[in-house]
Amino acid sequence: MSRIAYVNGRYVPHDEAAVHIEDRGYQFADGVYEVTAVINGRLVDNDGHMVRLERNGVHFGMVYMQITRGVAPRNHPFPLHVRPALVVTAKRAPLLLDPDTVPSGRVITTPDIRWGRCDIKTISLLPNVLAKQKALDAGAYEAWMVDDDGFVTEGTSTNAWILDRDGRLITRPLSDNILGGITRQTMLRLAAENDIEVIERPFTVEEAKAAREAFITSTTNFLKPITQIDDSVIGNGEPGETSRHMLGLYVAYGRKAAAA
Ligand code: PLP
Repeated sequence: MSRIAYVNGRYVPHDEAAVHIEDRGYQFADGVYEVTAVINGRLVDNDGHMVRLERNGVHFGMVYMQITRGVAPRNHPFPLHVRPALVVTAKRAPLLLDPDTVPSGRVITTPDIRWGRCDIKTISLLPNVLAKQKALDAGAYEAWMVDDDGFVTEGTSTNAWILDRDGRLITRPLSDNILGGITRQTMLRLAAENDIEVIERPFTVEEAKAAREAFITSTTNFLKPITQIDDSVIGNGEPGETSRHMLGLYVAYGRKAAAA
């Protein structure tokens, strides 16, 4: 964990950083957050320097930013004349930068029990936490949440992709049902620039189990190949060629952005 945290206008030692017990994030999960990867001390996919990274000595890792509606006596309506509360932390983390050695993972599928605005990056993540723990308890890395019609929405903190038998990447289109991942967005651009066909449409669990490849994307994972969905092995059980190629493109993009 980082040594310095930014809390409401002040840089404080991480161990001493605290928020008020009546912060609406704590009371109501009334807040949003953002996570940004750091490569060579530079924020990737982020236009501004939001924090003084050098204070934390982070060269490879993550920056976490959370904003809530502020501190007010506990009452549901939006409080009047209250300043939002802002917390920023940074931590070192090894990033998976080598497509040849990228570890794969398994996913389980589970009903998507979330609300109707999954496009908001809210700190209200209880259904995601429950699904992730279910995955870990089953010895898997991630859970793919599935809507009432049998279509995969996304992972608990990742977007879901498959490669069909014709070599086309498939990922669910943006809507209220998924978070529009920044990594997903960049992957789409990189695919287009490199003549890799992508179809944005929902896919079923059955389709995913029969896919040639599968992977997840997020700021913290970049791209992680998925080699098993529930009890079905994907492809030959090893990270696929297209998955590794896409990760390679993303890492090259991240390194270039960091050097700019
Ligand atoms: N989907 C969900 C539900 C998430 O929580 C996240 C990231 O936290 C993602 C997808 C991936 O988004 P990003 O690529 O911006 O990290």
